[in-house]
This record gives sequence, structure tokens and C-alpha cells, in this order.
Amino acid sequence: MKRIAGLLGSLALAASIGFSGSALAQGSGKTELLWLGQASVRIKTPGGKIIVIDPWLSAGPKTPAAYKDISALGKVDLLLVTHAHVDHIGDAPAIAKMYNTVLYGPADMVTPLITLGVLPANLTHRFNKSGHVTPLPGIKVTAVKAEHSSLYVFNNPATGKPESHPAGEAMGYIIQMESGFKIWHMGDTGLFPDMQFISEHYKPDVVLMPIGGNFTMDHDDAAFAART
Ligand SMILES: [Zn+2]
Repeated sequence: MKRIAGLLGSLALAASIGFSGSALAQGSGKTELLWLGQASVRIKTPGGKIIVIDPWLSAGPKTPAAYKDISALGKVDLLLVTHAHVDHIGDAPAIAKMYNTVLYGPADMVTPLITLGVLPANLTHRFNKSGHVTPLPGIKVTAVKAEHSSLYVFNNPATGKPESHPAGEAMGYIIQMESGFKIWHMGDTGLFPDMQFISEHYKPDVVLMPIGGNFTMDHDDAAFAART
């Protein structure tokens, strides 16, 4: 059965379903999900790899105190960002540098990170919707549509002023573990009919949905999406 978890802007729902820190039993090992506030999630795969998605930790109002410091993550084997809004890209560049790990993200979000000097090219990987990557043995990540936008605010150290840069299109991710277990992290998105197509095609076991209601679906929209 598909499990649905609300994320963005809804600590109450996420907590009420016991999502944070839960382990999901499955065929050949466990996948552990730890909600770190907003869309930030840490996944421990059945093979012991650590996947971090949309880490808005140091400034996130819902970040557990223990994870305000990104060194608390311990290790990061795979870093995914869905789009460039600050509550999603957050600490990702700093994490990429600290852990010498590659930031995987929408192609046209990653390009300005390189050209602006935020990250060196060797710590980035650009891909796009329906594209997939296999960054770790047995782990596959497929980019899927999200109905949202993406803009990168760069604090230019030369001028001391923030700049707005186009940053491609927002994406969601289907993350397949070594065991075949699949998590769909939707990132930020509005309701769109291809959610049904994506679900039928990729057959995720768990879906992480935004339900903020201002920038994304609200809980009614998300409930509709979960039924379809
Ligand atoms: Zn957003």
C-alpha cells in the first residue's frame, strides 16, 4: 500500500502520522526516513547509504535542534535538490563542499551555481525530467515533473547585494533503494494530472507531498492527489 506523508508547512500532519524518524519495513532491509523540517529529508538506505534531499537546516524554523549544524549529518552519500528556492537549496552547497559530495539537481538550476562560483563543476550533476542517475550502487534517482517555479537568490559577495537568477524548472524525484523500495519526493508542487501517470508508471511505495497551501497544494489538494 502506498504511504502518503505531508511535508511542507505541516509539522502537525507529519508528526501525527509518526513520519519523522520512522523505519519502513520492506523485503530485503529497511529504509529509514528522518524528516528534518520543511522538505528536508534524510534517508538511510537498506545498504547504509545516506541520502539528503532539500536540506534547509541551519535557517529552517522546523529543523530539529540537533541538525541545525550540518556537520551533524555525519556523512552524505547522495545530495539531491528539487529547485532553487532557499527553503529547498538551503545548505546544499555548503554540504556538498563539507562532505565533498556531488549536488544533483535540475540542469538549469545547477548551471548558475557553477557560473556564479557557488560550486565547482565537479561537485555538481545536471539532469532533467524523465532523466535518471545511478549515483550509488543499486540506487536510481529519476527526475519527474513538479508544477512549480525556481529562482536562485545569490548573495553577491562583490556587491554585498542579493541577485535573482533564473534557475530552471522545479522537479520531483523517484528514489529507488537497493531493495527496489521507492520514495517519491515531490519537492514543491501544485496539483497536476500527471501525478497519476507518474504514480502508475513508477509505482512509488511512499510519497512525500507538500501541503503548504500558499506556494503548493494544500491538504485538500494533497488528499485528492493521494486518492488518484
Ligand atoms: Zn519552492
